[in-house]
Order: sequence, then C-alpha cells, then structure tokens
Amino acid sequence: MTSRQAGTARDIGHRRPGPAHRRAGSLGRVTFRPEAIQGHGQQRAGGVIDYRLARMGVVAEFRKGRLARHEVCDAHPELKRAAVSASEPTEMECPICEEDNIVLVTYAFGDRLPASGRCITKKGEVAKLSKGRRRLAVYVVEVCPSCSWNHLAKSFALGTG
Ligand SMILES: [Zn+2]
Repeated sequence: MTSRQAGTARDIGHRRPGPAHRRAGSLGRVTFRPEAIQGHGQQRAGGVIDYRLARMGVVAEFRKGRLARHEVCDAHPELKRAAVSASEPTEMECPICEEDNIVLVTYAFGDRLPASGRCITKKGEVAKLSKGRRRLAVYVVEVCPSCSWNHLAKSFALGTG
C-alpha cells in the first residue's frame, strides 16, 4: 500500500477556515495544517499541547445554542473514514450526540510526508516515522463515528531538530 491510498487524509488540508469572526479560537477543528492550529492549545510537560480547553469551549457554545450541530459535527469524509478504519477506541462518550464513544485518529506531519499529513494506522508507526527525521509533528483528533463531531485533542513534536 502506498501512502496515497486508504488511510491517508490528503484532502483534509484543503478545507478553508470560516470567516475570522466565526468561532474564534476553534481553527483546530477546521484544518489540521500545523501552522494553522498552533497557539490554540495549552503547552504541557514533554512538549504535549493539550486542546481540552478549546474543546470545552466549543462544547459549551453548542450547549448554549450558539453553535449549530452541523457546525460542530462536520468531520471531513476522509477523517470519518479514518475514524472507522484507522482509529483508537476510547471510553469517552461523544459530547454532542451522547450516543456513541469517540475514537482517536492520529496524523503525522513532517519532511517527506504529505503536506496534509499522514494518518497513523499502526501502533509503533509514529516511533518509526520519527527516526531519521529532523522534525515530526503529531496531531491526535477525536471523532464521533455516529454524528461526525471532531476536535483536536492533543499534539506533540518528535525528532532531533
Ligand atoms: Zn456524536
């Protein structure tokens, strides 16, 4: 299987963020390009950036009726496909539909990888990819396979540069 076949998410980066006044601070949900989502999370020990606060903000806006369901449940078809075929299950209930558990989809960005990232499908693949690369950025996205809710969960950098 080449990197351009099933499991990659090369179309995800083609999406355009909405107008700036719409859902400020939630760009992490709209595009997975690393340069677009930096600065929206909290830096944790070990270089992990945590997006829980931004996520809670989006969920709160939805519960107050300020965001419509179609605005928060807008997973790209490639992301939905990855949620079904290349994800890690969790015990966490979807905050939007509360009918299904969310799953985690992992993307890696780095030199010699597609510009829109590579979807990680196997355990140990991140460690393998980070070998010999100056820098590898890894993004973990939570997705609800039922209602298409999606939000960036965390990101971290690997590599020697
Ligand atoms: Zn859901």
